[in-house]
This record gives sequence, C-alpha cells and structure tokens, in this order.
Amino acid sequence: MSTFVNKKWQYLPLIMLLISMLGCLYFFNASVNNWMTKTMISDLNALVSDVTYQLKKEQPIFLISNRNKLNQYLHEYPQVASGKRITLIDAEGNVLADSSLTASELTVLENHSDRPEFIQALAGKIGSSVRHSDTLNTDMIYVARVIAISDKQYVVRISMPMTVLEAMSIELLIILLWLFAITTTIFLGSSVLSHYRIAEQVNKEKAQQDERIRVRTVEIELLHRLANLLAACNSIQETQKVVEDIVPRILGKINGSVAMMKASRNQLSIQLDWGKPWPGSLVYEPHECWALRKGKYHLANDDYHCLPCAHMGETGDDQVLCIPLTAHGNTIGMLHLYFGDKNAIVSMTTLRSAFTVAEHLGLALANLSLQEKLRAQALSDPLTGLYNRRHFEEVLDTSLTTAKSKQGYVSLLMLDIDHFKRFNDNFGHDAGDYVLKEVSSLLMNTIAENDVACRLGGEELAVIALGCDADAGTILAQQICKLISELHLELKGLSLGKVTVSIGVSTFPDSQVDRSNFVKIADVALYKAKDTGRNRVVHYNEIRQSASLKAELELEPESDQEQESEFDSDVSNQSSTVTVLANKNKSN
Ligand code: GH3
Ligand code: MG
Ligand code: MG
Repeated sequence: MSTFVNKKWQYLPLIMLLISMLGCLYFFNASVNNWMTKTMISDLNALVSDVTYQLKKEQPIFLISNRNKLNQYLHEYPQVASGKRITLIDAEGNVLADSSLTASELTVLENHSDRPEFIQALAGKIGSSVRHSDTLNTDMIYVARVIAISDKQYVVRISMPMTVLEAMSIELLIILLWLFAITTTIFLGSSVLSHYRIAEQVNKEKAQQDERIRVRTVEIELLHRLANLLAACNSIQETQKVVEDIVPRILGKINGSVAMMKASRNQLSIQLDWGKPWPGSLVYEPHECWALRKGKYHLANDDYHCLPCAHMGETGDDQVLCIPLTAHGNTIGMLHLYFGDKNAIVSMTTLRSAFTVAEHLGLALANLSLQEKLRAQALSDPLTGLYNRRHFEEVLDTSLTTAKSKQGYVSLLMLDIDHFKRFNDNFGHDAGDYVLKEVSSLLMNTIAENDVACRLGGEELAVIALGCDADAGTILAQQICKLISELHLELKGLSLGKVTVSIGVSTFPDSQVDRSNFVKIADVALYKAKDTGRNRVVHYNEIRQSASLKAELELEPESDQEQESEFDSDVSNQSSTVTVLANKNKSN
C-alpha cells in the first residue's frame, strides 16, 4: 500500500516546481513589462526635454506659415531614425507637425485635444499614456509636455511603438525561458541521476543484506548441526571429527584447539585441534592463560597491547584468540583460535561467530565430561579406584574375542590378599581399607597401560593382561606378588605387618579351555596357590595335567568345535611351557 502511494505521488514535487516556475515566469514578465514601460516613459521624457530645448532654440521655424519647414525639422531629428515619433500640437489640439507624417497627411489628422497625454501636459504635468494608434495602426506609448513659445502654448509629444518594448520583453522572456529550461534540465537530470544512484545504492545494500542473511542462515544451520552432532558423541575424543569438520565451515580457515580443564582444576590439556597443529603447550596451568585470569576472551595482539599468553611459549609470534568455555557457571576449558600471523586482524564477525561456537562447545563438552565421569563411576570401585566386576566381565569378553580373531594372548591374574581378615581384626576396618587401597595402587602402577586391574569384591582383585602369553602372565604375576610382599604399610604410626597375595593365572589360548571356563580355571589356580602355602603364583597350566583335578573342576563342555581343534593342536607346545613354569615356581 505504501509503495503504491509513494509511486503515485513521487512526481508531485516536480509538478509543484513546474507550476511555481510558470507562476514566477508570468509575474516576472508582467513586472518586466511594467518596469520597461516606466523606463521608456522616463527615457521619452528626457527626449521631450531635449526636443523642447531644441525647439526653443529654433523659434523662427515655429511660424505657422512655415509648417513644412517645421515638419521637415522634426523628420530630421536624430532620435526619429531610431523609431521615435515627435509630434507638435498647439493648445487647441491641432497637430502642427509630426515626424512620422507628411504635411499633406497632417491636414486630415483629427484633433488631439481629447488625448490623455495632451490633457495632462496642458495641466502642467508630464503627460503619458499607452494606447492603440489608429493612424499608425499599432500600440504606442506617449509622453507629452507643454512648451511656451512667443506667449503661445504648444505640446511636444514623443511616442514610440510598443513593438520595440514587446521585442525587448520577448527577448528577456526568451532568456528567461532558456534559464528556466536549463534549470529544469539540470534539476531533472540531477533528480534522475540521484534517483538512479539511490536505486543503485538501495539494490547494492539489499544484495549485501541478502548475502548477510544467507551467510547467517548457513551459520545458524551449521551451529545447529554442531550442537546436534556434539550431543550425539559418546566421548570427548569422538568430538574431534565433528569439530574439525564443522567448526572451519563456521569460522573459515582459522586453526583452532580446545583445552579441557582437569578435574583437579590445576591444569588444562589440549584435547582437540583442527587446521595446523597447536603450536603452544599441550598441557598448561590456568595462570598461563590471560583469558582465564581475566575471566573473558583474550586476543594476543590488538591495537592496544601485544600480550601473548604464557602457554604459547616461544611461539609468541602468532595471533591467538583464547575464549573460555563455560557451562553451568564453571570454566570447563578453553577455545584457542590461532591465525598463523601475528598481525592478523580479527573481525567483529569472526569474534561473534567464535563466541557462539565456544558457547556450543562449552555446553557439549561439559555434558560429555559429565557423562564420562558418570560412566567411569559406574565402572569403577569407589574405595580402590580399580574397575568393578561389571567392567571386568565386559573387558574380559571383548579381550578374548579380539585375541581369538587376531590370534593374540590374554592372561588373567586372579589375586586374593592372604589373611586379609587379620588386618580388620587386628587394626580395624580402616586398616583393611588402607591395605586394599595400597595394594590396588601398586597394582595400577605395575601393570602395562593397556592392562586392566579390577576389584571383583572384598579383597579379591584381578588383572587382565593383554598380549601376555602363559610365560609373560606368570612373570607379571610373580612380579606383583614380590612387590606386594615388599610393602611396609603403616597406619597412624602403627606397622600393619607383612601383606602378601596369592595369584592364580590362566592364559588364552594356552590354557586350552573355552571362554566360559577361563575365569574358573584362574580361580582353581588361585585356590591351589592358597592351598600350597599362599604368597605365591600358580598358573593353571602347571596343574592342568592332574586327572583328579579335571574331574574336580567338572569343566563345561566346549561349545566351539573349531576352538577345540585349535586348542588340541597347541597341546604339545603347551606341555613344554608348563614344565618350564613349574620349574620356575619351584625355584621361587
Ligand atoms: P584367605 O587368606 O584365605 O583369603 O583369608 P582372608 O582372611 O583373606 O579371607 P576371608 O574370606 O576369610 O576374609 C575376607 C574378609 O575381608 C572378610 C570381610 O570382612 C573383609 N572385607 C571384605 N570387603 C572389605 C572391605 O571393603 N573393607 C574391609 N576393611 N574389609 C573387607
Ligand atoms: Mg577372599
Ligand atoms: Mg584373602
């Protein structure tokens, strides 16, 4: 509606201008005519004075009898040549001489006593009038004045055709029209030009606006996807792929990394990165980052400072933007963007997008770290920090499957603290807990990174040693057994005495049992270790040959024929291993 109204009235100022210009033209023309008439009357009046003066000097030619001479005199008057007409009239209104008429024409001329300029002149004033001359058949302007010669009054009248004035007026009008036309053309031209310029500017801004909207829409879509995909990740490590794919689409070719705050809150470690590798420290303390100190983002180099964070170390040549990642009021990490050039200018758009990315990352990573914490809690034993039975079973199952498919080894160490009850009975439950924690911690520090230590319940512990054959599994168990026996535990200044463990070991596939019996045979070995004096290691392979033991165990029939044949083929090899281990144990 407003567009329609605008289009309808858009030429109104132009029409108003044209009307006002035409009005001005009309009044200007009228004023010019009036002004020129007045000027002409004044001019003619001066001429009348001149003619009067000359006629007074030439008195002899005013003899009536000498009319021809008088007429001739007026004909020869210099101004007559320029179109002026001089008439001499006596007091009765008879025309005595006229510069435009011949003597014979004068005789038929009517009396002029009724002419307004004549009447005004006889009254002693300067007579003037503008009217049509029947004699010359044209509009004329008349100026008359009385003159006394030889006691007689005459009227000297000078006139000129209005055509001269009209010609001058038309000339002025033409100049005016030209001015008008030029002004209008300039006005219209500049109006059209500015109209096109405005339209061009509007179109340009509209295109820019459309582009901004398009970019923003894409950015919103990408942020939406980033949030969704991050929410679908199961671990912080999994977010790496999502982040390295989507974040550069939002921020452009800017390198980035994400550091996560450790639970102790005294260290941050780089967990994710994209673009070029992170040039700063992989682990740093909170005070090494200006952003963490300030509690808001920090740009290493801007117009007002050049302050790279300490975590950038010697690589302070880069332009780095650090943005704290916060969630639920806590700083959970840091987003670092590094530009590869110390003088890189970070635009407001980049800053705005980086803040939005940081917001999404903060929330998603906080959720994931909470999930990981809960998962770890669900899988770990709160007293010792070891994995619990649930996790033990999952890992054992997965490890055996992997070992079977990749023809690898898995050794299972079942540990039981010897006479553990005594610690409780002699020193209290706290001492028992303390012993459990210390043994567990030793276990964690002794086993390989990929091995899994678990607390199965009470003082029964287990180690899943990946890639360890019967030999390696036994050696590891003996090492653990020895290290624990060397522990000197004290609580509240009281020595708790010697701590020892008994360990039963089984190895897949060396022990030639299927998965369902794998734990059971480790337990059998453990009981054997207990029975034979404790503080020792027994591998199931050492006791496997005992027929009575086999019957005692009542091993479940193997379901997998393939596995059975696989195990049978290994029998000859295994028997030699058992002999070696048995000898080793004896020597211990
Ligand atoms: P053995 O050498 O035959 O293994 O003897 P043991 O005393 O170690 O074994 P027993 O099964 O007789 O005793 C285990 C004791 O461990 C019983 C139980 O009260 C105690 N216990 C189980 N869980 C915990 C725990 O979390 N903390 C403490 N302090 N004691 C525990
Ligand atoms: Mg026990
Ligand atoms: Mg015990």
